[in-house]
Amino acid sequence: MTDINIEKYIRHLQDELNHHSYRYYVLDDPEVSDAQYDKLMNELLGLESAHPELVTPDSPTQRVGAKPLEKFVTIAHTVPMLSLENAYTESDMKEWEQRIFDILGQGKDVDYAVEPKIDGTAVELVYEGGLLSKASTRGDGINGEDITENIKTIKSVPLRLIASGNPVPPYLEVRGEVYIDKADFRKLNEQQEDRGEKFFANPRNAAAGSLRQLDPKITALRPLKIYVHSIGGSKGIEFTSHIGFMEYLNSLGLRSTKGIVKLCKGIKEVQEYYNKTMENRDIMPFEIDGIVIKVDDIALYEKLGKRSRSPRWATAYKFPPREETTKLLEIKIQVGRTGALTPVAVLEPVYIGGVTVSNATLHNQEEIERKDVRIGDYVVVTRAGDVIPEIIKPIESKRTGEEKKFKMPETCPVCKSKVVLPVDEVIPRCPNSTCPAQVKGSISHFVSRSAMNMEGLGEKLIEQLVDKGVISNSADLFFLKKETLAGLERMAEKSAQNALDAISKSKNTTLSRLIFALGIRHVGEALAKTLAEKFGALENLINASYEDLQAIEDVGPKVASSIRCFFDNRQNMELISRLKQGGVVYETAAKKTGGKFAGLIFVFTGELESMTRPKAQALVEELGGSSASSVSKKVSFVVAGADAGSKLDKAKQLGIPVLTEEEFVEKCG
Ligand code: NAD
Repeated sequence: MTDINIEKYIRHLQDELNHHSYRYYVLDDPEVSDAQYDKLMNELLGLESAHPELVTPDSPTQRVGAKPLEKFVTIAHTVPMLSLENAYTESDMKEWEQRIFDILGQGKDVDYAVEPKIDGTAVELVYEGGLLSKASTRGDGINGEDITENIKTIKSVPLRLIASGNPVPPYLEVRGEVYIDKADFRKLNEQQEDRGEKFFANPRNAAAGSLRQLDPKITALRPLKIYVHSIGGSKGIEFTSHIGFMEYLNSLGLRSTKGIVKLCKGIKEVQEYYNKTMENRDIMPFEIDGIVIKVDDIALYEKLGKRSRSPRWATAYKFPPREETTKLLEIKIQVGRTGALTPVAVLEPVYIGGVTVSNATLHNQEEIERKDVRIGDYVVVTRAGDVIPEIIKPIESKRTGEEKKFKMPETCPVCKSKVVLPVDEVIPRCPNSTCPAQVKGSISHFVSRSAMNMEGLGEKLIEQLVDKGVISNSADLFFLKKETLAGLERMAEKSAQNALDAISKSKNTTLSRLIFALGIRHVGEALAKTLAEKFGALENLINASYEDLQAIEDVGPKVASSIRCFFDNRQNMELISRLKQGGVVYETAAKKTGGKFAGLIFVFTGELESMTRPKAQALVEELGGSSASSVSKKVSFVVAGADAGSKLDKAKQLGIPVLTEEEFVEKCG
C-alpha cells in the first residue's frame, strides 16, 4: 500500500470503529460482534504503531468508550476510568508479563490477582463521609453520565458504608461492573415480550440500557447487580494489595470481588485459572467474557503506569468469541422424532468459539417474527458451550430490501401430512407417527450413546434402512440379517458384522438406558435414571398410575401425562414386546442402599467453587442419596454456593436446612 492509501485505510478503520462504538456505547445496540470489533481495532492498532505520524487524538485507539449522552448531566472522573488491554492466548499473556518485567527490571514471578471479567457495564460510585453521593457511567473515561438515582435502585449498592471494624474513609471512589444474571436476563426478556417492548440482545446491553434510563422507576424494575472491582480517587486510606483492598471494600458493605478473586503466582497459574474459569463459564450465574489479571502489589501501579486507554498493571485475557455476524442463506424445516417442526437457519459458515457454525436454531415461527429475522439478512449468531448455535438478531441497517419473510409450511416437508398445532403450544407437529423423519429420528435416538449405545450405527445407515423399508422401528434392528446389511451402499461384510455386533452387545442394557431410549417426550437421561430407580422394573413403570408418577420429585402433571400416554399407546406397547422378543434384557438399577446419604435429597444452588455441580450431584448419588432441581418439602438439604438465588429463599421459607459448600464437603467426608 502507498502512504496515501495507508492513510485512507486508517481513516476508514477509524470511521468504522467510531460508528460501532456509537452503536455499542451510546445506543446499546451493536451491529457487529465484539470479536469483529476487536479484529478491526487490532488491525488499526497494528497500522498506527507502524505509522505513528498518522495517529489522531480522536482515533478510537486513543480513547475509552464514547462521549456521555447529552440528555444526562455529566460527571467528571477525578481519575480517568480506563479500559483494559486484551490478550487472547497464553503467549499474549507471556508478552504482557515480559513488558512488566522489563519495566520493573526483574525476571521473577509477580503475584497477580485474577478475577472473572464480568460482562456488564462499568460504573463509578462516590462515597462522601460514608454516604453514596454520586454515581456515573464510564462515558469516554474522562466524563461519565450522572446515573446516581438509577444506581440507588440497585439493592446490592449500599447507600451508606458500614464501619465493621474498619474505619469508613472520608472520601472513596470505587469502580465496578453492573450486570444482570443469566436467569434474570431470560425472565426480563420474557417480560419485555409480554409488554411488547424491545428484546435485549444480551445481558450486557440490557444492563447498560437499564442503567441509562432517564426515569429511575424503569431502572428499579430491572434485576441489576454489581461487583465492585477497582478504586478511583480516595482520601484517608492506603492499601498495599488488590486482594486486601477487595476484602476491605467487602467489610464496608460493598459487593466486591472478594469471593471470586484468586491470587496466582506467575503466568502458569494464571493460565490454570483461565482454563478452569472457561470450563465453568456455562454454570456461572452471570456472563463473563474472559478473566482480568491485575498486579496484586498496588505499590507497583505507579511504576508500571498506563498507555493511552489502559493501565499496564492489568489486562483482560479474553475467551474465544461466542458471537459472530454472518449471512442467513436459507431456512430449512427439520422434523424431529416427536414430529416437531423446527425451522433451522442455514448460515454462511462462520468460526465461533472454536468451531465452524453453518446451522443455527430458530425455534419456531413466533421467535422468527419476534426477532424479525428474514432470509438473506446479516445476523448475529451466538454459540455457548455445547448449546446449539442461535440467532440473536438481524442487522437491520445491512438490509438491501431483497430479504424475504419466512412462513412455516402447512404440511410436513417429509411426509406431506397436514401439520397440527396443539392447543397452548407454539411448535407445530407432523401428526403422522410413521412419517419417515419421525421414524429415523426415534431410531437415531434409540441407538445413541446415552441410550442403547450402538456404536457405529450412524444416521446415514439408519436413513438407508428406513428408506429401503428394511426397518420401521427400533425393535426391527434386533432382527436384522447380515446379508441385508452387507447389501447396502457403503457396507462391506466387515462393517455389516460390526453393526450386528454393536446391536447384539446393546441387548444387555440397564433399565435407565432402556427407558431413555424409548424416547418418551419430556423424559431425559436424568429422569430416566430416577424412574428406573423408583420402579425397578419396566412393568412397574408401565403400570404406574398418573398419581404414582406425580409423586416423584421432578415429575409434574405434563411429564406424568406424557409418560402415561406413551404406555397407553398400543403401538408403543407392541414395540416394547418386540424389544423383548429381540433379546433386550436389562439390569435393574436398584438404588444404592446403605450409603450415608440413603434417602436424602439434595438441591444445589449458586456457584460451587471446589467442584462442578454435576460432580457434586454424582458424589451425592455415590453416597446413596439423590439430587433434585427444585426445592420442595421433600428436599433434605439445600447446598448454597456463591450468589445463590431464589432456591435459597425458598429453602428458608420452607425451613429446609441450608449447607455451605464447605459443610457439604465435610458431610461427604
Ligand atoms: P472491555 O469491556 O473489554 O474491558 C474493560 C472493562 O472490563 C472495564 O472497563 C471494566 O468495566 C470491565 N471489567 C469487568 N470485570 C472486571 C474486573 N473483574 N476487573 C476490572 N475490570 C473489569 O473494554 P471496554 O473498553 O469496556 O470495551 C471494549 C470492548 O467492548 C471491545 O473489546 C469490544 O469487545 C466491545 N465493543 C464492541 C462493540 C461492538 O460493536 N460489538 C463496539 C465497541 C466495543
